[in-house]
Amino acid sequence: MPHAATRTWSIRPEKDTFLGAENPFESMMARFDEAATHLNLEPSLRKILRHPEKQLIVAVPVLLDNGETEVFTGYRVLYNTARGPAKGGIRFDMQVTLDEVKALAAWMTWKCAVVNLPFGGSKGGVVCDPSKMSMGELERLTRRYTAGIISLLGPDSDVPAPDVNTNERMMAWIMDTYSMHNRHTVTAVVTGKPVAMGGSLGRREATGRGCMIVTREALKQLDLPLQGTRVVVQGFGNVGSISAQLMQEQGMKIIGASDKEGGLYNPKGLDVNDLIRYVQEHRSLAHYPNAEAISNADLLTLETDVLVPAALENVITEENAAQIRARIICEGANGPTSADADAILQDAGILVIPDILANAGGVTVSYFEWVQDRGGFFWDLETVNSRLERILVSSYQEVASMAQRAKVSMRIAAYMVSIDRVAAVHRLRGMYA
Ligand code: NAD
Repeated sequence: MPHAATRTWSIRPEKDTFLGAENPFESMMARFDEAATHLNLEPSLRKILRHPEKQLIVAVPVLLDNGETEVFTGYRVLYNTARGPAKGGIRFDMQVTLDEVKALAAWMTWKCAVVNLPFGGSKGGVVCDPSKMSMGELERLTRRYTAGIISLLGPDSDVPAPDVNTNERMMAWIMDTYSMHNRHTVTAVVTGKPVAMGGSLGRREATGRGCMIVTREALKQLDLPLQGTRVVVQGFGNVGSISAQLMQEQGMKIIGASDKEGGLYNPKGLDVNDLIRYVQEHRSLAHYPNAEAISNADLLTLETDVLVPAALENVITEENAAQIRARIICEGANGPTSADADAILQDAGILVIPDILANAGGVTVSYFEWVQDRGGFFWDLETVNSRLERILVSSYQEVASMAQRAKVSMRIAAYMVSIDRVAAVHRLRGMYA
Protein backbone atom coordinates (compact mmCIF):
# COMPACT_ATOMS: atom_id res chain seq x y z
CA MET A 1 0.00 0.00 0.00
CA PRO A 2 1.57 3.36 -1.01
CA HIS A 3 2.21 5.97 1.66
CA ALA A 4 -0.64 8.49 1.96
CA ALA A 5 1.60 11.32 0.79
CA THR A 6 2.09 9.56 -2.56
CA ARG A 7 -1.62 9.02 -3.04
CA THR A 8 -3.83 11.57 -4.75
CA TRP A 9 -7.07 11.75 -2.84
CA SER A 10 -8.55 14.72 -4.69
CA ILE A 11 -10.97 16.15 -2.17
CA ARG A 12 -13.30 18.60 -3.91
CA PRO A 13 -15.93 19.68 -1.39
CA GLU A 14 -16.33 23.18 -2.73
CA LYS A 15 -16.53 22.20 -6.40
CA ASP A 16 -19.95 21.03 -7.47
CA THR A 17 -19.61 21.47 -11.20
CA PHE A 18 -18.87 18.63 -13.57
CA LEU A 19 -15.38 18.72 -15.02
CA GLY A 20 -16.17 16.83 -18.23
CA ALA A 21 -17.71 17.82 -21.54
CA GLU A 22 -21.26 18.26 -20.35
CA ASN A 23 -22.76 18.68 -16.92
CA PRO A 24 -24.77 15.46 -16.34
CA PHE A 25 -27.46 17.29 -14.39
CA GLU A 26 -28.01 19.69 -17.31
CA SER A 27 -27.98 16.71 -19.66
CA MET A 28 -30.74 15.08 -17.59
CA MET A 29 -32.70 18.35 -17.37
CA ALA A 30 -32.57 18.87 -21.15
CA ARG A 31 -34.37 15.53 -21.62
CA PHE A 32 -36.75 16.24 -18.74
CA ASP A 33 -37.76 19.56 -20.32
CA GLU A 34 -38.33 18.00 -23.72
CA ALA A 35 -40.47 15.21 -22.28
CA ALA A 36 -42.38 17.61 -20.01
CA THR A 37 -43.20 19.77 -23.03
CA HIS A 38 -44.51 16.76 -24.96
CA LEU A 39 -46.62 15.82 -21.93
CA ASN A 40 -47.88 19.36 -21.55
CA LEU A 41 -46.91 19.13 -17.87
CA GLU A 42 -48.40 21.89 -15.75
CA PRO A 43 -45.88 24.60 -14.65
CA SER A 44 -46.20 23.82 -10.91
CA LEU A 45 -45.20 20.17 -11.32
CA ARG A 46 -42.52 21.13 -13.77
CA LYS A 47 -41.02 23.36 -11.10
CA ILE A 48 -41.28 20.75 -8.36
CA LEU A 49 -39.72 18.00 -10.46
CA ARG A 50 -36.75 20.18 -11.42
CA HIS A 51 -35.52 20.20 -7.81
CA PRO A 52 -33.99 17.44 -5.70
CA GLU A 53 -35.91 17.01 -2.42
CA LYS A 54 -32.80 16.68 -0.25
CA GLN A 55 -29.04 17.07 -0.74
CA LEU A 56 -26.58 16.13 1.96
CA ILE A 57 -22.80 16.71 1.89
CA VAL A 58 -20.77 15.00 4.60
CA ALA A 59 -17.13 15.06 5.65
CA VAL A 60 -15.90 11.49 6.08
CA PRO A 61 -12.78 11.26 8.27
CA VAL A 62 -10.93 7.97 7.89
CA LEU A 63 -7.96 6.62 9.81
CA LEU A 64 -5.51 5.32 7.18
CA ASP A 65 -3.36 2.24 7.67
CA ASN A 66 -0.25 4.39 8.12
CA GLY A 67 -1.76 6.17 11.12
CA GLU A 68 -2.62 9.41 9.30
CA THR A 69 -6.16 10.75 8.94
CA GLU A 70 -7.75 11.72 5.62
CA VAL A 71 -11.09 13.50 5.23
CA PHE A 72 -13.16 12.45 2.22
CA THR A 73 -16.27 14.16 0.84
CA GLY A 74 -19.51 12.19 0.57
CA TYR A 75 -22.86 13.06 -0.98
CA ARG A 76 -26.37 11.64 -0.77
CA VAL A 77 -29.19 13.15 -2.82
CA LEU A 78 -32.88 12.20 -2.58
CA TYR A 79 -34.38 13.45 -5.79
CA ASN A 80 -38.02 12.48 -5.39
CA THR A 81 -39.95 10.23 -2.98
CA ALA A 82 -43.53 10.77 -4.15
CA ARG A 83 -43.94 7.14 -5.29
CA GLY A 84 -42.17 5.50 -2.33
CA PRO A 85 -38.83 5.19 -0.52
CA ALA A 86 -35.85 6.61 -2.39
CA LYS A 87 -33.73 4.00 -4.13
CA GLY A 88 -30.25 4.49 -5.53
CA GLY A 89 -26.69 3.24 -5.52
CA ILE A 90 -23.50 4.51 -3.94
CA ARG A 91 -20.46 5.26 -6.06
CA PHE A 92 -16.82 5.49 -4.93
CA ASP A 93 -14.93 7.41 -7.59
CA MET A 94 -12.57 10.35 -8.07
CA GLN A 95 -14.97 11.96 -10.57
CA VAL A 96 -17.91 12.13 -8.12
CA THR A 97 -19.43 15.62 -7.88
CA LEU A 98 -22.66 16.93 -6.42
CA ASP A 99 -24.03 17.61 -9.91
CA GLU A 100 -23.26 14.07 -10.98
CA VAL A 101 -24.98 12.65 -7.89
CA LYS A 102 -28.02 14.91 -8.48
CA ALA A 103 -28.29 13.71 -12.09
CA LEU A 104 -27.94 10.07 -11.03
CA ALA A 105 -30.60 10.55 -8.32
CA ALA A 106 -33.01 12.06 -10.88
CA TRP A 107 -32.31 9.19 -13.29
CA MET A 108 -33.13 6.73 -10.49
CA THR A 109 -36.48 8.49 -10.02
CA TRP A 110 -37.35 8.16 -13.72
CA LYS A 111 -35.91 4.62 -13.86
CA CYS A 112 -38.02 3.30 -10.99
CA ALA A 113 -41.09 4.92 -12.52
CA VAL A 114 -40.48 3.63 -16.05
CA VAL A 115 -40.53 0.04 -14.77
CA ASN A 116 -43.34 0.99 -12.38
CA LEU A 117 -41.64 0.16 -9.06
CA PRO A 118 -43.08 1.78 -5.91
CA PHE A 119 -39.85 3.71 -5.31
CA GLY A 120 -38.51 7.22 -5.65
CA GLY A 121 -34.93 7.98 -6.65
CA SER A 122 -31.68 8.79 -4.86
CA LYS A 123 -27.94 8.39 -5.29
CA GLY A 124 -24.78 8.71 -3.23
CA GLY A 125 -21.09 9.02 -3.81
CA VAL A 126 -17.75 9.51 -2.12
CA VAL A 127 -14.81 11.23 -3.83
CA CYS A 128 -12.07 8.63 -3.46
CA ASP A 129 -9.92 6.21 -5.40
CA PRO A 130 -10.74 2.76 -4.00
CA SER A 131 -7.99 1.12 -6.07
CA LYS A 132 -5.48 2.90 -3.82
CA MET A 133 -7.15 1.88 -0.55
CA SER A 134 -6.80 -1.23 1.57
CA MET A 135 -9.82 -3.31 2.54
CA GLY A 136 -9.60 -1.92 6.09
CA GLU A 137 -9.58 1.69 4.84
CA LEU A 138 -12.54 0.96 2.56
CA GLU A 139 -14.48 -0.57 5.44
CA ARG A 140 -13.84 2.46 7.68
CA LEU A 141 -14.78 4.81 4.82
CA THR A 142 -18.01 2.91 4.07
CA ARG A 143 -19.08 2.76 7.72
CA ARG A 144 -18.27 6.41 8.48
CA TYR A 145 -20.04 7.57 5.30
CA THR A 146 -23.06 5.44 6.30
CA ALA A 147 -23.06 7.05 9.75
CA GLY A 148 -22.86 10.48 8.08
CA ILE A 149 -25.96 9.93 5.97
CA ILE A 150 -27.84 7.71 8.43
CA SER A 151 -30.57 10.27 9.09
CA LEU A 152 -31.72 9.76 5.49
CA LEU A 153 -31.48 5.95 5.38
CA GLY A 154 -34.11 3.35 6.21
CA PRO A 155 -36.25 0.70 4.47
CA ASP A 156 -39.13 3.20 4.30
CA SER A 157 -37.08 6.27 3.42
CA ASP A 158 -33.89 5.63 1.44
CA VAL A 159 -32.37 2.32 0.36
CA PRO A 160 -28.84 2.28 -1.17
CA ALA A 161 -27.35 -0.32 -3.52
CA PRO A 162 -24.01 -0.92 -5.28
CA ASP A 163 -22.79 1.27 -8.13
CA VAL A 164 -19.38 2.02 -9.65
CA ASN A 165 -16.61 0.60 -7.41
CA THR A 166 -18.95 -0.58 -4.67
CA ASN A 167 -20.06 -4.17 -4.23
CA GLU A 168 -21.92 -6.59 -1.99
CA ARG A 169 -19.17 -6.51 0.61
CA MET A 170 -19.74 -2.78 1.13
CA MET A 171 -23.51 -3.29 1.19
CA ALA A 172 -22.93 -5.78 4.05
CA TRP A 173 -20.99 -3.07 5.98
CA ILE A 174 -23.77 -0.55 5.34
CA MET A 175 -26.40 -3.01 6.60
CA ASP A 176 -24.31 -3.78 9.68
CA THR A 177 -23.60 -0.11 10.50
CA TYR A 178 -27.26 0.84 10.15
CA SER A 179 -28.33 -2.20 12.21
CA MET A 180 -25.84 -1.36 15.00
CA HIS A 181 -27.29 2.17 15.25
CA ASN A 182 -30.83 0.76 15.34
CA ARG A 183 -29.91 -2.04 17.80
CA HIS A 184 -31.54 -4.72 15.65
CA THR A 185 -30.85 -6.25 12.25
CA VAL A 186 -32.45 -4.37 9.38
CA THR A 187 -31.77 -6.24 6.16
CA ALA A 188 -34.10 -4.14 3.96
CA VAL A 189 -32.07 -0.94 4.46
CA VAL A 190 -29.80 -1.80 1.53
CA THR A 191 -29.95 -4.05 -1.55
CA GLY A 192 -27.25 -5.84 -3.50
CA LYS A 193 -26.22 -7.64 -0.27
CA PRO A 194 -24.66 -11.09 -0.19
CA VAL A 195 -27.33 -13.79 -0.56
CA ALA A 196 -26.30 -15.27 2.82
CA MET A 197 -27.54 -12.14 4.63
CA GLY A 198 -30.78 -11.27 2.88
CA GLY A 199 -29.59 -10.62 -0.66
CA SER A 200 -31.60 -11.86 -3.62
CA LEU A 201 -30.61 -14.59 -5.99
CA GLY A 202 -30.04 -13.05 -9.42
CA ARG A 203 -29.28 -9.51 -8.17
CA ARG A 204 -25.61 -9.55 -9.18
CA GLU A 205 -26.49 -10.46 -12.78
CA ALA A 206 -29.73 -8.44 -12.95
CA THR A 207 -28.49 -5.28 -14.68
CA GLY A 208 -26.62 -7.25 -17.35
CA ARG A 209 -29.59 -9.60 -17.74
CA GLY A 210 -31.84 -6.57 -18.24
CA CYS A 211 -29.50 -5.21 -20.94
CA MET A 212 -29.65 -8.55 -22.70
CA ILE A 213 -33.48 -8.68 -22.50
CA VAL A 214 -34.07 -5.15 -23.86
CA THR A 215 -31.47 -5.65 -26.60
CA ARG A 216 -33.31 -8.81 -27.64
CA GLU A 217 -36.57 -6.80 -27.74
CA ALA A 218 -34.91 -4.08 -29.86
CA LEU A 219 -33.55 -6.66 -32.31
CA LYS A 220 -37.07 -8.10 -32.58
CA GLN A 221 -38.48 -4.62 -33.20
CA LEU A 222 -35.97 -4.04 -36.02
CA ASP A 223 -36.50 -7.54 -37.37
CA LEU A 224 -32.85 -8.44 -36.86
CA PRO A 225 -31.66 -11.90 -35.83
CA LEU A 226 -30.02 -12.75 -32.50
CA GLN A 227 -27.60 -15.33 -33.88
CA GLY A 228 -24.29 -13.82 -34.89
CA THR A 229 -25.32 -10.26 -34.01
CA ARG A 230 -22.12 -8.32 -33.31
CA VAL A 231 -21.78 -6.59 -29.94
CA VAL A 232 -19.22 -4.12 -28.57
CA VAL A 233 -19.16 -3.50 -24.82
CA GLN A 234 -17.44 -0.55 -23.15
CA GLY A 235 -16.70 -1.20 -19.46
CA PHE A 236 -16.13 -4.74 -18.20
CA GLY A 237 -17.34 -4.51 -14.63
CA ASN A 238 -20.59 -5.84 -13.23
CA VAL A 239 -22.83 -4.50 -16.01
CA GLY A 240 -20.50 -4.82 -19.01
CA SER A 241 -19.11 -8.28 -18.33
CA ILE A 242 -22.47 -9.85 -17.45
CA SER A 243 -24.26 -8.20 -20.40
CA ALA A 244 -21.54 -9.62 -22.66
CA GLN A 245 -21.74 -13.05 -21.06
CA LEU A 246 -25.55 -13.32 -21.33
CA MET A 247 -25.62 -11.88 -24.86
CA GLN A 248 -23.04 -14.45 -25.90
CA GLU A 249 -25.21 -17.19 -24.36
CA GLN A 250 -28.04 -15.97 -26.62
CA GLY A 251 -25.85 -16.50 -29.68
CA MET A 252 -24.57 -12.95 -30.15
CA LYS A 253 -20.90 -12.38 -30.98
CA ILE A 254 -18.88 -10.05 -28.73
CA ILE A 255 -16.31 -8.45 -31.04
CA GLY A 256 -15.05 -5.68 -28.73
CA ALA A 257 -14.72 -5.03 -25.00
CA SER A 258 -12.88 -2.50 -22.86
CA ASP A 259 -12.17 -1.25 -19.37
CA LYS A 260 -10.46 1.87 -18.12
CA GLU A 261 -7.05 0.51 -19.20
CA GLY A 262 -8.14 0.22 -22.87
CA GLY A 263 -9.98 -1.97 -25.34
CA LEU A 264 -9.85 -5.29 -27.18
CA TYR A 265 -11.09 -6.14 -30.66
CA ASN A 266 -11.53 -9.51 -32.33
CA PRO A 267 -13.87 -9.60 -35.35
CA LYS A 268 -14.19 -13.40 -34.98
CA GLY A 269 -15.60 -12.96 -31.48
CA LEU A 270 -14.09 -12.84 -27.99
CA ASP A 271 -14.56 -15.69 -25.53
CA VAL A 272 -16.35 -13.77 -22.76
CA ASN A 273 -15.97 -16.45 -20.08
CA ASP A 274 -12.24 -16.52 -20.75
CA LEU A 275 -12.13 -12.70 -20.53
CA ILE A 276 -13.93 -12.81 -17.18
CA ARG A 277 -11.41 -15.35 -15.85
CA TYR A 278 -8.57 -13.16 -17.20
CA VAL A 279 -9.93 -10.07 -15.40
CA GLN A 280 -10.37 -12.02 -12.15
CA GLU A 281 -6.70 -12.94 -12.33
CA HIS A 282 -5.15 -9.74 -13.73
CA ARG A 283 -7.71 -7.15 -12.49
CA SER A 284 -7.92 -5.65 -16.01
CA LEU A 285 -8.30 -6.60 -19.68
CA ALA A 286 -4.88 -5.12 -20.52
CA HIS A 287 -2.51 -7.46 -22.39
CA TYR A 288 -5.19 -10.11 -23.00
CA PRO A 289 -3.55 -12.28 -25.67
CA ASN A 290 -6.37 -13.34 -28.06
CA ALA A 291 -7.37 -9.92 -29.41
CA GLU A 292 -6.07 -6.71 -30.93
CA ALA A 293 -5.55 -3.86 -28.44
CA ILE A 294 -7.47 -0.67 -29.29
CA SER A 295 -8.25 2.57 -27.46
CA ASN A 296 -11.58 3.24 -25.77
CA ALA A 297 -12.22 6.00 -28.31
CA ASP A 298 -11.73 3.60 -31.26
CA LEU A 299 -13.80 0.91 -29.56
CA LEU A 300 -16.86 3.18 -29.54
CA THR A 301 -16.69 3.74 -33.29
CA LEU A 302 -16.22 0.09 -34.33
CA GLU A 303 -18.71 -1.16 -36.92
CA THR A 304 -21.13 -3.33 -34.96
CA ASP A 305 -24.81 -4.19 -34.63
CA VAL A 306 -25.06 -3.42 -30.91
CA LEU A 307 -22.98 -1.03 -28.81
CA VAL A 308 -23.27 -1.32 -25.02
CA PRO A 309 -21.66 1.61 -23.18
CA ALA A 310 -21.40 0.19 -19.64
CA ALA A 311 -18.77 2.36 -17.94
CA LEU A 312 -19.35 6.01 -17.05
CA GLU A 313 -21.40 8.95 -18.33
CA ASN A 314 -20.75 11.27 -21.27
CA VAL A 315 -18.77 8.93 -23.50
CA ILE A 316 -20.95 9.53 -26.57
CA THR A 317 -20.98 13.26 -27.22
CA GLU A 318 -21.43 15.59 -30.17
CA GLU A 319 -17.72 15.03 -30.85
CA ASN A 320 -17.95 11.32 -31.68
CA ALA A 321 -21.69 10.65 -32.19
CA ALA A 322 -21.47 11.00 -35.98
CA GLN A 323 -18.78 8.32 -36.07
CA ILE A 324 -20.80 5.70 -34.19
CA ARG A 325 -21.46 2.73 -36.51
CA ALA A 326 -23.99 0.67 -34.55
CA ARG A 327 -27.65 -0.15 -35.29
CA ILE A 328 -28.61 -0.28 -31.61
CA ILE A 329 -27.11 1.37 -28.53
CA CYS A 330 -28.04 -0.30 -25.26
CA GLU A 331 -27.13 2.11 -22.47
CA GLY A 332 -25.86 -0.14 -19.68
CA ALA A 333 -24.24 2.86 -17.95
CA ASN A 334 -26.16 5.80 -16.60
CA GLY A 335 -25.97 8.85 -18.84
CA PRO A 336 -23.41 7.60 -21.39
CA THR A 337 -24.88 9.83 -24.13
CA SER A 338 -24.91 13.61 -23.88
CA ALA A 339 -28.08 15.49 -24.79
CA ASP A 340 -26.34 17.03 -27.82
CA ALA A 341 -25.42 13.59 -29.13
CA ASP A 342 -29.04 12.35 -29.00
CA ALA A 343 -30.13 14.29 -32.07
CA ILE A 344 -27.11 13.12 -34.09
CA LEU A 345 -27.81 9.47 -33.24
CA GLN A 346 -31.49 9.88 -34.05
CA ASP A 347 -30.71 11.43 -37.45
CA ALA A 348 -28.40 8.51 -38.15
CA GLY A 349 -31.31 6.12 -37.48
CA ILE A 350 -29.62 4.47 -34.49
CA LEU A 351 -32.06 2.94 -32.03
CA VAL A 352 -30.97 4.05 -28.54
CA ILE A 353 -32.39 2.01 -25.66
CA PRO A 354 -32.13 4.69 -22.98
CA ASP A 355 -30.31 4.07 -19.71
CA ILE A 356 -33.40 4.44 -17.53
CA LEU A 357 -34.92 1.46 -19.33
CA ALA A 358 -31.82 -0.46 -20.48
CA ASN A 359 -30.17 -0.78 -17.07
CA ALA A 360 -33.36 -0.96 -14.98
CA GLY A 361 -32.88 -4.70 -14.41
CA GLY A 362 -30.65 -3.95 -11.42
CA VAL A 363 -33.13 -1.82 -9.55
CA THR A 364 -35.96 -4.19 -10.43
CA VAL A 365 -34.22 -7.08 -8.68
CA SER A 366 -33.22 -4.68 -5.88
CA TYR A 367 -36.94 -4.11 -5.46
CA PHE A 368 -37.43 -7.90 -5.34
CA GLU A 369 -34.70 -8.07 -2.68
CA TRP A 370 -36.39 -5.38 -0.57
CA VAL A 371 -39.74 -7.18 -0.92
CA GLN A 372 -38.16 -10.52 0.10
CA ASP A 373 -36.37 -8.94 3.10
CA ARG A 374 -39.57 -7.30 4.30
CA GLY A 375 -41.59 -10.48 3.81
CA GLY A 376 -38.87 -12.70 5.24
CA PHE A 377 -39.56 -15.16 2.45
CA PHE A 378 -37.06 -15.79 -0.32
CA TRP A 379 -37.65 -16.69 -3.96
CA ASP A 380 -35.80 -19.15 -6.18
CA LEU A 381 -33.73 -17.90 -9.11
CA GLU A 382 -36.29 -18.93 -11.67
CA THR A 383 -38.97 -16.81 -9.98
CA VAL A 384 -36.61 -13.79 -9.84
CA ASN A 385 -35.56 -14.08 -13.47
CA SER A 386 -39.03 -14.72 -14.87
CA ARG A 387 -40.51 -11.76 -12.96
CA LEU A 388 -37.62 -9.57 -14.14
CA GLU A 389 -38.17 -10.65 -17.73
CA ARG A 390 -41.92 -9.94 -17.54
CA ILE A 391 -41.38 -6.42 -16.15
CA LEU A 392 -38.68 -5.47 -18.64
CA VAL A 393 -40.45 -6.84 -21.72
CA SER A 394 -43.67 -5.01 -20.85
CA SER A 395 -41.78 -1.79 -19.97
CA TYR A 396 -39.92 -1.96 -23.30
CA GLN A 397 -43.22 -2.33 -25.12
CA GLU A 398 -44.80 0.56 -23.21
CA VAL A 399 -41.89 2.84 -24.08
CA ALA A 400 -41.79 1.71 -27.71
CA SER A 401 -45.52 2.36 -28.12
CA MET A 402 -45.21 5.79 -26.45
CA ALA A 403 -42.36 6.56 -28.91
CA GLN A 404 -44.60 5.62 -31.80
CA ARG A 405 -47.65 7.50 -30.53
CA ALA A 406 -45.81 10.72 -29.63
CA LYS A 407 -43.33 10.42 -32.56
CA VAL A 408 -40.33 10.83 -30.26
CA SER A 409 -37.14 8.85 -29.57
CA MET A 410 -37.15 5.92 -27.14
CA ARG A 411 -35.34 8.17 -24.67
CA ILE A 412 -37.93 10.92 -24.65
CA ALA A 413 -40.68 8.28 -24.61
CA ALA A 414 -39.13 6.65 -21.52
CA TYR A 415 -38.98 10.03 -19.77
CA MET A 416 -42.59 10.69 -20.78
CA VAL A 417 -43.81 7.38 -19.34
CA SER A 418 -41.95 7.95 -16.08
CA ILE A 419 -42.60 11.67 -15.59
CA ASP A 420 -46.26 11.02 -16.26
CA ARG A 421 -46.31 8.40 -13.49
CA VAL A 422 -44.47 10.59 -10.96
CA ALA A 423 -46.66 13.57 -11.84
CA ALA A 424 -49.85 11.51 -11.44
CA VAL A 425 -48.89 10.64 -7.84
CA HIS A 426 -48.05 14.29 -7.06
CA ARG A 427 -51.49 15.32 -8.30
CA LEU A 428 -53.20 12.66 -6.17
CA ARG A 429 -51.19 13.49 -3.05
CA GLY A 430 -51.60 17.24 -3.48
CA MET A 431 -49.17 19.76 -2.03
CA TYR A 432 -48.55 19.71 1.71
CA ALA A 433 -48.63 23.28 2.92
P1 NAD B 1 -18.06 -1.45 -12.13
O1 NAD B 1 -17.22 -0.67 -11.21
O2 NAD B 1 -18.35 -2.89 -11.79
O3 NAD B 1 -17.39 -1.45 -13.60
C1 NAD B 1 -17.06 -0.29 -14.29
C2 NAD B 1 -16.23 -0.70 -15.51
O4 NAD B 1 -16.01 0.45 -16.32
C3 NAD B 1 -14.85 -1.25 -15.16
O5 NAD B 1 -14.52 -2.30 -16.06
C4 NAD B 1 -13.93 -0.06 -15.41
O6 NAD B 1 -12.59 -0.43 -15.72
C5 NAD B 1 -14.62 0.56 -16.61
N1 NAD B 1 -14.29 1.96 -16.82
C6 NAD B 1 -14.16 2.96 -15.91
N2 NAD B 1 -13.79 4.10 -16.52
C7 NAD B 1 -13.72 3.81 -17.83
C8 NAD B 1 -13.38 4.56 -18.97
N3 NAD B 1 -13.07 5.86 -18.87
N4 NAD B 1 -13.41 3.96 -20.18
C9 NAD B 1 -13.73 2.64 -20.29
N5 NAD B 1 -14.04 1.87 -19.24
C10 NAD B 1 -14.02 2.45 -18.03
O7 NAD B 1 -19.40 -0.63 -12.33
P2 NAD B 1 -20.83 -1.16 -12.80
O8 NAD B 1 -21.63 -1.49 -11.60
O9 NAD B 1 -20.65 -2.16 -13.88
O10 NAD B 1 -21.45 0.19 -13.39
C11 NAD B 1 -21.18 0.64 -14.72
C12 NAD B 1 -22.24 1.63 -15.13
O11 NAD B 1 -23.54 1.01 -15.04
C13 NAD B 1 -22.34 2.89 -14.25
O12 NAD B 1 -22.75 3.97 -15.07
C14 NAD B 1 -23.45 2.54 -13.29
O13 NAD B 1 -24.08 3.70 -12.76
C15 NAD B 1 -24.37 1.79 -14.21
N6 NAD B 1 -25.32 0.91 -13.53
C16 NAD B 1 -24.91 -0.08 -12.69
C17 NAD B 1 -25.85 -0.91 -12.10
C18 NAD B 1 -25.46 -2.09 -11.25
O14 NAD B 1 -26.36 -2.84 -10.84
N7 NAD B 1 -24.18 -2.31 -10.97
C19 NAD B 1 -27.23 -0.70 -12.34
C20 NAD B 1 -27.61 0.31 -13.20
C21 NAD B 1 -26.64 1.11 -13.79
